[in-house]
Amino acid sequence: MVLTDEPLLRSPGLYLDGCWVRPVDGGTRAVHDPADGGVLTIVDEAGPADVSTAIAAARAAFATGDWPATPKAERSALLLRIAELLDAHRDDLARIETADTGKTLRESHLDIDDVIAVFRYYAHLVTIDTDRLVDTGNPAVISRVVHEPVGVCALIAPWNYPLLQMSWKIAPALAAGCTVVVKPSEVTPLSTIALVRLIDRAGVPAGVVNLVPGSGEVVGAALTDSPDVDLISFTGGASTGAEIASRAARHVTRVALELGGKNPHLVFADADPDSAVDAVLTGAFLHSGQVCSAGTRLIVHASIADEFVAELARRAAAIRVGPGRDPASQTGPLVSPEHRAKVEAYVALGLSEGARLVAGGRRPDDPALAAGSYYLPTIFDDCDRSMRIVQEETFGPILTVERFTTEAQAVALGNDTAYGLAAGVRTADPARGERVVRALRHGTVWLNDFGVYTPAAEWGGFGRSGIGRELGPTGLAEYQETKHLWHNTAPAVGGWFSTG
Ligand code: NAP
Repeated sequence: MVLTDEPLLRSPGLYLDGCWVRPVDGGTRAVHDPADGGVLTIVDEAGPADVSTAIAAARAAFATGDWPATPKAERSALLLRIAELLDAHRDDLARIETADTGKTLRESHLDIDDVIAVFRYYAHLVTIDTDRLVDTGNPAVISRVVHEPVGVCALIAPWNYPLLQMSWKIAPALAAGCTVVVKPSEVTPLSTIALVRLIDRAGVPAGVVNLVPGSGEVVGAALTDSPDVDLISFTGGASTGAEIASRAARHVTRVALELGGKNPHLVFADADPDSAVDAVLTGAFLHSGQVCSAGTRLIVHASIADEFVAELARRAAAIRVGPGRDPASQTGPLVSPEHRAKVEAYVALGLSEGARLVAGGRRPDDPALAAGSYYLPTIFDDCDRSMRIVQEETFGPILTVERFTTEAQAVALGNDTAYGLAAGVRTADPARGERVVRALRHGTVWLNDFGVYTPAAEWGGFGRSGIGRELGPTGLAEYQETKHLWHNTAPAVGGWFSTG
């Protein structure tokens, strides 16, 4: 599939200090379509010198430019203009996201709608005054707590939700008055390049947004190691997050980390069976399981487990796997042959650990799909907590099944993870539902729902799932420093060292 004719897809180069330029010491990379392995386009990538230029431009725009002090209403207006442009290019962007990630067009459209919503949300939130007057007990003192932009932010995003994850960072960073250097995943940079083109068109001042596509090894590391970056906001794998945190610590650079998950889905015996089966399938197999909050660990009451798993297996086998651009496809390919090899290794591991395969466990037979990175929805029954496939993020369409008999056991299994990003609970008993959602140690817990979110509510993880929160007011606070201003309106001699 060749998309290079689409105006938003042509690689315009790096975006540095308000200009599209060719890399000085970077290179180029072919971006592939996971649906058929074809080359979508060639993008320019930054090298270390280009990253230094980007950081210097962001630093200058922060230190001497107008953006940090631009009235909130004007910053809000820019975000709204970006949202309008995104809306006007909704279909183009969805097609680009589908071509680059493999996800279905329906999912891509939902992603773009969420992206538009997040720009609109922060355009609104930033206009709300959060400064606070403090009563010091001294009527001569005006004490205020105010919020100011953090400074230069490096924004590093993963390949599974490229535009969505980057927007969760860019929108609040711009709202707060920060300047940013943006690094998309080398695997899926196209929608972020398109977004920066739209941000440019919306009239962002030079240097406020800079784009440096490239690898984590080169571009990500150069951003992480820079003493001139004030905040690294990273979404990706837990081991990469740990590496970034340890490198950033050398300069005491702030980090915000949104990392992986191994998310339990607890199904009690009284749950409505039809909606529970549907939610477990969607939670596990949407975007072929390449979702940080995928519900890949089913914990089901023993009394209904056999019937429930049989129905899951029947329905999983019927999921239509195919190219994301084909409206008949219900889920698309994995993002690359390399990633599929990792998923296949987990399936082999599950079998060697003694899990019982009840669905999938192989590539599709259809010869029309042979060139793409497809893998069938896979279910392992008879799993237990000691298995690596139960504890590790497989990031593919693999669902494991464990059984419980008591509520306490279900909660203990749900919390038996190094991660803590998201969890789901299904029960018809509201009192039990409330007890269980409060007992689960995860950043988002759904009761009788799964995988949904709103830009106004915080998103992030406990444990190895990260540090900090995106979305909601906390997602704006990540990009702000808190400053206390103390104004004595009646200065007088203090008394400590006075001579009289
Ligand atoms: P990844 O390999 O950790 O990469 C994430 C980003 O970091 C990419 O842009 C990558 O660049 C870059 N990177 C890699 N090594 C780096 C380094 N040493 N220094 C700085 N940057 C570096 O993760 P991924 O495979 O793209 O994404 C999947 C992971 O993201 C999963 O674990 C998933 O759970 C997690 N995720 C979490 C959330 C959440 O909200 N918590 C949301 C989405 C995804 P390259 O691509 O160029 O290597």
